[in-house]
Amino acid sequence: MLLTVSTTHRPATDLGYLLVKHPDRVHSFDVPTGTAYVLYPEAAADRCTAALLLDVDPQRLRAQQDTFELGQYVNDRPYAASSLLASALNKVFRSALRGVSKDRPELAAAPLPLEIAVPVLRGTSELATRLFEPLGWQVTATPIPLEPQIGGDSRYVDLQLSGSVRLADALNHLYVLLPVLDDAKHYWVAPDEIEKLLRSGEGWLAAHPEKVLITRRYLAHKKAYATTALQLLEGDETTDEDAELPVTRKISLASHRRDAVLTALADAGAARVLDLGCGGGALLTALIKDRRFTEIVGADVSSRALAIAARRIHLERLGDRVRLFQSALTYRDDRLRGYDAAVLMEVIEHLDPPRLPALAETVFGHARPATVVVTTPNVEYNVHYEGLTGTRHSDHRFEWTRAEFRSWASRVAARYRYEVTFRPVGEDDPATGAPTQLALFRTVSAEVAQ
Ligand code: SAH
Repeated sequence: MLLTVSTTHRPATDLGYLLVKHPDRVHSFDVPTGTAYVLYPEAAADRCTAALLLDVDPQRLRAQQDTFELGQYVNDRPYAASSLLASALNKVFRSALRGVSKDRPELAAAPLPLEIAVPVLRGTSELATRLFEPLGWQVTATPIPLEPQIGGDSRYVDLQLSGSVRLADALNHLYVLLPVLDDAKHYWVAPDEIEKLLRSGEGWLAAHPEKVLITRRYLAHKKAYATTALQLLEGDETTDEDAELPVTRKISLASHRRDAVLTALADAGAARVLDLGCGGGALLTALIKDRRFTEIVGADVSSRALAIAARRIHLERLGDRVRLFQSALTYRDDRLRGYDAAVLMEVIEHLDPPRLPALAETVFGHARPATVVVTTPNVEYNVHYEGLTGTRHSDHRFEWTRAEFRSWASRVAARYRYEVTFRPVGEDDPATGAPTQLALFRTVSAEVAQ
């Protein structure tokens, strides 16, 4: 069974860095069901294709899975993409799936022009479209005909996807959705599959219109597991800032915002950071991955949000580099003092405007880190969201224009002796500005010199 990933990003051979597999060689890996190969049928500057070929050994398949429903030799497993291919993908492209790249970190974080082909996949073209289209893919799923003497179509499709998608997102979509299409998992589904599903589905599954079908099938129709997973997803969605935006837009906006905040922190040289109003941990995950941040604190007023964040980041495994605690930003808190930087990512718009002076006093007056990064929606951009009425999230107490945000930020900066600069986040439309606005506050240097 075969899957190919192509890009026309230049130089296209950078794909080799992202997948951590050199384009000049054939790489082979022993997997529980046979041998997986990664090779590049084409590798030029303008177009590069990586192929994952899984050579299934039917005897090993049988040895691995006694309860396997089909015959040992006469079945489609060696040929049709399925959960076996998804497992191989997970083993062979592990760091690419996590969005990590030592050599090309910016490229790993950016959407790339990608084409994916899975020439033989069990499933219908209708379902393939319902699953992949909401994630921003252009889907062509052509039914594969049976032999002419039999006539009609087989149960298989030739799937082609194209889109501008982050490679890690693309691989996670395949990792989750290939077994969903196939709907015949080759292995016993254990409770840790819930965790795997949530991890791979992060940022897209909670808002997917087919999340119930995906969850049930992924968890092999184990009702209790699916119920738990859906409840946890629900939690993710209620802490998701862009919950009410269309799926494709929110995925890229969330990652742009995270990247913009990380860049601002890196520009400021911050190592010990506070994530104030950390919510379900959207930023914490990224801070934890980046070893420049030596001490990370997440604070939120909601104990439920903190519980979700703790689960998402696996707090229990992290030692004392990361701490979470409950704190209300409208009350001074000594635990917030002494840090290099504080981030308020999509937080201020959740407070009633009369509470903002108290928040400013807590953050800029009392905690007083050298750097503060604040992001908030730019309401002018909302005209681009078709069908959006009201604010982007039902808990937003206000959404500001660029002028309103600048005016608030400049007043706070003047009052607490900070300098402030502004950066657009996401597509910077000439008329409306970008979807998210970011203010970077630094204590004025005279004070630092003293
Ligand atoms: N920063 C996260 C969460 C944003 S949602 C992200 O970008 O995904 C806003 C968060 O602010 C919520 O988790 C909410 O509980 C928290 N919040 C709202 N008012 C707060 C207050 N007064 N003190 C602390 N946290 C607050």
